[in-house]
Amino acid sequence: MGYLSHLECARCGQKHDPSVVQNLCRSCRFGPLLARYELDRVARDLTREALAGRSADMWRYAELLPVNDRENIVSMGEGWTPLLKLDRIGKELGLANVYLKDEGLCPTGTFKARGASACVSKLKELGVRALGMPTAGNAGGAFSCYGARAGIEVHVAMPSDAPESTPKQCSIAGGTVYLIEGRVNRSADFIGEGITRFGWFNAATFKEPWRVEGKKTMGLELFEQFGGELPDVILYPTGGGVGLVAIWKAFEELQAMGWIKNRTTRMYSVQTEGCQRLKKALDEGKDDTEPWTNITTAIPGMAGPPYSLGDSLCLKAIRESGGDVLIVDDEAILADMRHIAATEGTFICPEGASTLAALRRLRDSGGIGRDERVVLLNTGSGLKYMEFFQAKVLREEPGVDLFTRAAAGVA
Ligand SMILES: *Cc1c(COP(=O)(O)O)cnc(C)c1O
Ligand SMILES: [Zn+2]
Repeated sequence: MGYLSHLECARCGQKHDPSVVQNLCRSCRFGPLLARYELDRVARDLTREALAGRSADMWRYAELLPVNDRENIVSMGEGWTPLLKLDRIGKELGLANVYLKDEGLCPTGTFKARGASACVSKLKELGVRALGMPTAGNAGGAFSCYGARAGIEVHVAMPSDAPESTPKQCSIAGGTVYLIEGRVNRSADFIGEGITRFGWFNAATFKEPWRVEGKKTMGLELFEQFGGELPDVILYPTGGGVGLVAIWKAFEELQAMGWIKNRTTRMYSVQTEGCQRLKKALDEGKDDTEPWTNITTAIPGMAGPPYSLGDSLCLKAIRESGGDVLIVDDEAILADMRHIAATEGTFICPEGASTLAALRRLRDSGGIGRDERVVLLNTGSGLKYMEFFQAKVLREEPGVDLFTRAAAGVA
């Protein structure tokens, strides 16, 4: 621990003191801050062999995480999630190496636990007592739970139609939940007022430097899980784009440490038809997006925001890596959510299922080789999304032989 050197503005490059509680760059006023480490020192002190014997959670990468004193780590065992080979799906698609990184096994039910663990730990270290944030739902749940464990007060604003599991998760952990009409940008405006009035730390996506660090560990794990190599393709369901930026940052750090020669993975962002801001900017050759105001998708983690401060970083990662943005519709996502459960046994969230729908498109367009190693990033558990599907069941009725009916096929 203690390898964190400074914070760097992703926009203007200005360096900032990482021991100061802050949000966006105070020089250019718009840039998100990224944590920078003394990577040559990390490379000297840390070996892959030493890593192999460490705890099976994301804090195995402590040298590449921002906390200085172990005492401040707020952890529930997040990370080191399984990398499942999907042989049946692979066979169907004519692809030999399809994998699912299953973040549904993280505490709180989604990969938001990684960002929350890193951020809440660092805030605890910096002495922050209360935070506020807008969320599509899952980040609020994760921050409420980690906040409870750290003794930090949490205020969460989310769209009133967020999956029911999320306000309940926040509430049971003692978070204060504000249900706000409209899309997540309205929740952001709302909580912004609370942040100004009460001085809560602003833990919104990309407005603080630490969530990226937690999500970065997904990239470090993939490196280890592929035996010290990178996969060829990653498909990532994109909301604010934190995870996509973070995984690319992890690979950059591994490269700087000399653990890999090149960043050979193609990064594919998956967006829905109802929110395509990255796709539009990529097609138009732009370095940043324009707000996508008419958001029509029902997939919570992909329904905006209309604009993310991380968009320019996402576009950069996609271009540098030779990836693309893949667009899928809600219907295809929900169909693949069922399909992957029925063929592979993994009950994943709709956001995660979008990566399978996108993989079909990528395969159809010839954008992928038969033997390439593909990672579908499943960001959470399907168990948080009870409203999204109906169970096919045989219900007892007087005078009906359910077994005969079952044999005829469950409708
Ligand atoms: C937040 C979230 C996403 C989007 O994550 P970003 O890294 O912000 O793009 C995807 N899936 C689920 C389940 C989420 O909760
Ligand atoms: Zn700046």
